[in-house]
Amino acid sequence: MASELKSAIVDAARTMYNEGLVVGSAGNVSARAENDEAMHITPTRVRYADLTPADIVTVTFDGDPIESDGLPSSESLMHGAIYAARQDVRAVVHAHPIHASAMAVRREAIPVFVDEQVVYLGGAVAVSAYAPAASEELADNAVAALGERRAVLLANHGTLAVGHDPEDALEMTRLTERLAQIWLLASMRPGATHLPRGIVEAETELYRMLQNEGGV
Ligand SMILES: [Zn+2]
Repeated sequence: MASELKSAIVDAARTMYNEGLVVGSAGNVSARAENDEAMHITPTRVRYADLTPADIVTVTFDGDPIESDGLPSSESLMHGAIYAARQDVRAVVHAHPIHASAMAVRREAIPVFVDEQVVYLGGAVAVSAYAPAASEELADNAVAALGERRAVLLANHGTLAVGHDPEDALEMTRLTERLAQIWLLASMRPGATHLPRGIVEAETELYRMLQNEGGV
């Protein structure tokens, strides 16, 4: 039901804020509507503490309002482009976590160094080519860099993660942030290592299998 989806978006958005993955009213959370032809998304410029399911805006994948008076997130185009490109995605979370954003500022992908990264996210977390916030170009770049995986870094900006529902997409955001933090710590001294290539290939197969079965 739409109301349950909207409540799930509010819960994930508030949790994202409370966990420090964004500040102010930055970041946004969306879910694919039941009819597969629209999305519910957080509004622009509403404080997370004040956010209620009634504030969630329903828009087309091009960001055009379908119902409600609120202004949809300025990143609606990016969310919509992901839903259009990835039929398996039911929810999207865009955030500005500190360590993952630091990697995005370096425009450096998070390499593959632990098993859970491949099984849950599909492998390395790539960095999309830079484009201004809210632009159509950013939407295209995010889709291209995400590929078949479940998280991507947005150059000089933040993260985008996808999932089966808003909480799942938030969990993938947490995992991305955790990986970035570990990698930055490990890289402070020489000798940080990647997972062996053969292991990554085998685990990538497992990821694809799980994705085809509806995900982990
Ligand atoms: Zn942002």
